[in-house]
Amino acid sequence: MHGFIPVSKPLTNAADVAAVAHLVEGGWLSGDAPVVGEFEDLMASYTNRRFAIAVNSGTSALDLAIESLQLTSRDEVILPSFTIISCLNAVLRRGAKPIFVDVDSDTWNVSAESIATAINSRTKLIIVPHIYGLPADIEKIEQLALSQGIPLIEDSAEGLGLSIRGRPAGSFGTMAILSFYANKVITTGEGGMILTDDADLADKLKRLRNLGFNSHRRFVHDMLGWNFRMSALSAGLGLSQAKRIDDQVTLQRSRGTHYQSLLRESSVLRMPLDSHDGVENIYWVFGFEVRAELQFSARDFMSALDRRGIGSRPFFYPLHRQPVLKDYGFEVQPTLPVAERLGERGLYIPSLGTTAMEREQVAKAVLDIANSGPKN
Ligand SMILES: *Cc1c(COP(=O)(O)O)cnc(C)c1O
Repeated sequence: MHGFIPVSKPLTNAADVAAVAHLVEGGWLSGDAPVVGEFEDLMASYTNRRFAIAVNSGTSALDLAIESLQLTSRDEVILPSFTIISCLNAVLRRGAKPIFVDVDSDTWNVSAESIATAINSRTKLIIVPHIYGLPADIEKIEQLALSQGIPLIEDSAEGLGLSIRGRPAGSFGTMAILSFYANKVITTGEGGMILTDDADLADKLKRLRNLGFNSHRRFVHDMLGWNFRMSALSAGLGLSQAKRIDDQVTLQRSRGTHYQSLLRESSVLRMPLDSHDGVENIYWVFGFEVRAELQFSARDFMSALDRRGIGSRPFFYPLHRQPVLKDYGFEVQPTLPVAERLGERGLYIPSLGTTAMEREQVAKAVLDIANSGPKN
């Protein structure tokens, strides 16, 4: 018997442990420690940005980025339905109207064309995530946003390390965000970052992160903020991990291409694209669709994997179908067939931290279930 294979194993090494231990020993713990600034500087330079603002999660990064734009209930925000709730939270809390667009059937990402058709005079923000390691149409969307004067947030939580014709993910839009959750390309346990080239926005984001403190008189507040600071311990781990981003991406991509070669033969599974528009998939996760011909859902497939000691996760549940929309008065939504199909038929299997032998074991189980049904 083999042990259970989890869907992801965070990658940490002795240098990470030493970096964190060094901070603990030195009494550098809070978000005011210099190591936070060092981590920000390194990530700003990696993503070719002027400013980086470290926070305590990718969701907090999105919350602050959206908050900084001061949307009102008259404003509309365009975002794909096939993404995580973090992209939507602050939009709803500000009372702005989300305009959900569908994603491409092959790349699972949003295209510039579908964003273009959703733009009108009320559009005040476009949010574009890169999904599962493939790039969204971010160059064209950036051009579109610039030409219309609409702010753009690039959600690069899953895209760190993507290179888009020489430009790093994280370098697009008014602001970009990163996540350092334990299953992301690099991790700080929990953590995130906002990236921007706009000095005024950077200043505002720093104040929003830190209780709305201003630089003139401590404890006098002319705006409200949050405590979303990143701790020194997280930043120390991140700084150590960030030295390995490129190695990590290379390794993760090789895991993805390994799965592609192992799973090629199945006609009932729909594999992810290995590249899109000349940009290589970095396989943040390795996901696939269970085709409709197979008389069972992704859920059945996951249970069958679980019985074989293999972890998996379902794809995102479409945002335009989230029950919480009702509480904000946005219950009536269009049908978005691709997002709905992916939510129903997509799953991802262990990749981050797996060995070649584990992937062979997983692929064998996947093919076995695809060929013989989920019941055995
Ligand atoms: C992980 C993720 C986030 C949120 O990051 P957390 O650090 O988990 O809050 C946001 N957007 C996308 C696309 C993500 O995958």
